[in-house]
Amino acid sequence: MANPLLQKFSTPFSTAPFSKIKNEHFKPAFIKAIKISKKEIDVITANTKVPTFENTIEALDFSGQTLDRISSIFFNLNSAETSDEIQEIAQEVSPLLTEFANDVRLNEKLFKRVQLIYDIKDELNLTPEEDTLLTNKYKSFVRNGANLNEADKLELRKTDTELSKLKLKFGENVLAETNAFELHITTKNDLKGLPESTIEAAAMTAKQKNKKGWIFTLDYPSYIPFMTYADKRNLRKKMAIAFGKKAFQNNKNDNQQVVLDLVNLRYKRATILGYKSHSHFVLEERMAETPKNVITFLNDLLEKAKPAAKKEFKLLSNFAKKDGVKQLEKWDSAYYSEKLKKELFDLEEEQLKPYFKLENVINGVFSVSNKLYDLEFEEINTIDKYHEDVKTYKVTDTSGNYIAILYADFFPREGKRNGAWMTSYKGQWKKDGENSRPHISIVCNFTKPTETKPSLLTFNEVTTLFHEFGHALHGMLANTTYQSLSGTNVYWDFVELPSQLLENWCYEKEALNLFAKHYETTELIPMDFIEKIKKSSNFLEGMQTLRQLSFGILDMNWHNNNPSKIKNVKEFESLAFENTQLFPDVKENCMSTSFSHIFQGGYSSGYYSYKWAEVLDADAFALFLEKGIFNKDVSQKFKEAILTKGGTRKPMDLYIKFRGKKPTNNALLKRAGLIK
Ligand SMILES: [Zn+2]
Repeated sequence: MANPLLQKFSTPFSTAPFSKIKNEHFKPAFIKAIKISKKEIDVITANTKVPTFENTIEALDFSGQTLDRISSIFFNLNSAETSDEIQEIAQEVSPLLTEFANDVRLNEKLFKRVQLIYDIKDELNLTPEEDTLLTNKYKSFVRNGANLNEADKLELRKTDTELSKLKLKFGENVLAETNAFELHITTKNDLKGLPESTIEAAAMTAKQKNKKGWIFTLDYPSYIPFMTYADKRNLRKKMAIAFGKKAFQNNKNDNQQVVLDLVNLRYKRATILGYKSHSHFVLEERMAETPKNVITFLNDLLEKAKPAAKKEFKLLSNFAKKDGVKQLEKWDSAYYSEKLKKELFDLEEEQLKPYFKLENVINGVFSVSNKLYDLEFEEINTIDKYHEDVKTYKVTDTSGNYIAILYADFFPREGKRNGAWMTSYKGQWKKDGENSRPHISIVCNFTKPTETKPSLLTFNEVTTLFHEFGHALHGMLANTTYQSLSGTNVYWDFVELPSQLLENWCYEKEALNLFAKHYETTELIPMDFIEKIKKSSNFLEGMQTLRQLSFGILDMNWHNNNPSKIKNVKEFESLAFENTQLFPDVKENCMSTSFSHIFQGGYSSGYYSYKWAEVLDADAFALFLEKGIFNKDVSQKFKEAILTKGGTRKPMDLYIKFRGKKPTNNALLKRAGLIK
């Protein structure tokens, strides 16, 4: 039988033919698709005609579509419906894909053509979208060293190899240190304050290790509840200190030298490529653009949030004093925050859940999208699915024009990774007069229905659904020519704007009235519940903000300068933290040696983007609040300027088109209750 992944999909809307795909189809399909892609590139480089935008840049963007489709099907399944077999295939095909990507990046003939066009860019009369595409393609070569002499190219490759080894080493050390610690409890009295489920899990862990009693570890699902609820202060202290000294104990898992090597190599890489620092290199492709902008941004927020944070710290300290706590320490923070929160806003999750039946919330997000963006959703059963739990919708505009296919996969099961995400099975592009529409998917892990109860969501799950749906709108409404600029293919400090923006509707009466009805009585959610949700979501916001800012500032300090003179990791870190610390320093602890976001993951010079995205969504939502949360002028502008445009232009230009001005921090500070 022919490989269904390599045939033209003859399904309705050409969706992925899941029921026909078998695991053994993937590897041969990948190999064949890589071959096809290579041929497409060869056709471009072998062209004897003068390089043009069409025969090179555009051709490059439309190459590799078969491979794209297969990759998206496969890697989405690896997240949502994986198995040992699929993971094995992933191990086998990943090196093939990396090798192919490198072949393209290092293809000198191809780069020469791109460069020739880039050099005469201003004479070409390109549209803004074409201009962006050309710049992106050119930069993707140059930022990987295409313009360097042979010696520097070699040096860059060497640096890259060392960097990836060090990042791996960093992660391994953190993991080893996390696993090396356990808090073994043998007397029941030491468990005081902990919820039943946490105690059960700890007993299970002990059992697995053939030990009596209860074991708590530094893994988040064990650590966080322990720090939040355990009454025994000395035990919280023990846990916190163990957590804080990961990879900072002068043993074989120590990361101090790894951190120093990493920042020096990153700096070296940036300077080889002609940038002033690693931050300069990273931020060139961000909305924030420069380190100076990021630092100004962080410092401005710091100045505004600090007075509130200090006040909250005092409030929390006074609250803890009743317990005999003289000095509030890091290991008291989560514990007393939770206690105080309970005292101030006595609102149980269980009281809210009946108002958020999953089906009602889905209809709610559909109604909101309809009111804002004229979208209609029809569940259809002709679409092939990868699991029976998945729901499929045909999305149209109010005139019936086909916009997108939407998959929604809500419940946890074995083989699905944790969390919630939006992804796509097919991108959007325009070619030969046809607008090829996208296939978008949202995947969540929500509370499952039982035999007697429907799926009732926690409020956090409600905002999660709106969040992922905001990303999905960005994907579904995409309307660009080139796939690589379409939908959520934007700078990553801009990508959370549509998602975080949509979360705001979850707190508005006018929106909640559309769907937040008691699943048994159909009574609308009481207004004072909504008020409590709003207030409690801002609880200790100053302290939270300060903490986030401290990480952002530390990240910038590590990457924004020449690090060759830094000798002592802890000293350097303390200096960076100087203006952001409320709690006394713990001398045996160090943040940097386990700061995986920036030293292992992809967040170096990017930690600020969490706050950046919040500023954007608050500033954008302020206009909705001013004109009405369902005001059509505002929503149409947002749709036109941002949701349809993807990465076709610089994010700030798109934002200004929508908002008429640059964003400011004020709306966020106001929403967070940090300024009046
Ligand atoms: Zn998101």
